[in-house]
Amino acid sequence: VKRGGRGGWRIHDPGASDPAADRLRLLEQLRHGIADGQLRLHHQPRVDLASGRTTGVEALVRWQHPERGLLPPAEFIEVAEESGLVRELGAWVLEAAVAQAAAWNASGRSLEVSVNVSARQLADPDLSSTVATALARHGVPASQLVLEITETALMLDPVAAATTLRRLADLGTRIAVDDFGTGYASLTYLRRFPVHELKVDKSFVDGVARDSGDRAIVATCLQLAHALGLTSVAEGVETREQRDALAELGCHVVQGYLFGRPVPAELLAP
Ligand code: C2E
Ligand code: CA
Ligand code: CA
Ligand code: CA
Repeated sequence: VKRGGRGGWRIHDPGASDPAADRLRLLEQLRHGIADGQLRLHHQPRVDLASGRTTGVEALVRWQHPERGLLPPAEFIEVAEESGLVRELGAWVLEAAVAQAAAWNASGRSLEVSVNVSARQLADPDLSSTVATALARHGVPASQLVLEITETALMLDPVAAATTLRRLADLGTRIAVDDFGTGYASLTYLRRFPVHELKVDKSFVDGVARDSGDRAIVATCLQLAHALGLTSVAEGVETREQRDALAELGCHVVQGYLFGRPVPAELLAP
């Protein structure tokens, strides 16, 4: 029996959806799923615009749910983040991504691997040792790993973030500011953080070839990246027009469906 609307009472219908109960169930399933090996990594190529070569991949998590099939992160990352389970998820992703990098190295193909790091992971004082342990276990050079952190996550606690990023950068991993332009990272912090890469958000890339406002924003982000000596990356590139506009603006690296969708490692084009 649950408290209904307008102060009345109603019998809870077990078939009706209860968002809080649904989240709890999803969380329990995810906790179990992580332990049970249900997570997967898909890899999306990152292409060097000047050479046209795939120089790296972004590792993106998926959940092979026993009943619902392959779920995209939009279905479970938020719940994981709110509950703190994202640390276990993140540890799994790191381990799997570094293991994959080692497998590519062994086959003579050296690819940089980018991994998304959530706000909670960034707040974890053990993050740098987790990263160091994974790299050491698989004999992967730290310089091959890129950690993508959103502008918003960085700005939640900029002082703590700076300390953690310093440790990670000291290991030799590269740091990318993800979804750049959508948050409100101040330029002061951008200089204070040891950052190596700026990733311009898809929402601006979408209009880069047809909208002068979007083009101006992308141009400004790229100029900033280049003035600070950072690698510039554009995400969500879907058309040749967008690619050409980005090339004209001097963007270093592009990523998007035009070059390849995220796929399991065995399906990544050579
Ligand atoms: P993101 O980091 O901005 O990743 C890019 C998202 O855009 C991916 O969605 C990718 O599949 C999609 N994408 C790439 N190119 C294109 C394109 O040309 N067009 C369109 N329409 N979409 C494109 P995905 O894999 O569903 O991931 C969504 C978000 O989930 C990611 O956004 C990231 O914030 C989060 N995420 C993914 N994997 C992880 C993870 O391992 N850990 C954490 N904490 N978050 C993750
Ligand atoms: Ca990302
Ligand atoms: Ca992104
Ligand atoms: Ca994005």
